[in-house]
Amino acid sequence: MEKRAFLRDRQTEKPLLRCAFCTGEIYAGERYYDMEEGAVCWGCLILYARRCCAGRMRIAGSAPEEAG
Ligand SMILES: [Zn+2]
Repeated sequence: MEKRAFLRDRQTEKPLLRCAFCTGEIYAGERYYDMEEGAVCWGCLILYARRCCAGRMRIAGSAPEEAG
């Protein structure tokens, strides 16, 4: 039976990648997103997307230049 990610022994298994956002280790079989900056782990996608879209963030009821 294939080992599940949470049952892996991270003391002996080597990561294949590092997340470009949190620098966390990414192991074989784990999900990640292949972005221009490098691999982004599954858990960081929301934070990464918020950072990427920060320039488009607006506050409803405010002029765009006031959103800061
Ligand atoms: Zn990450």
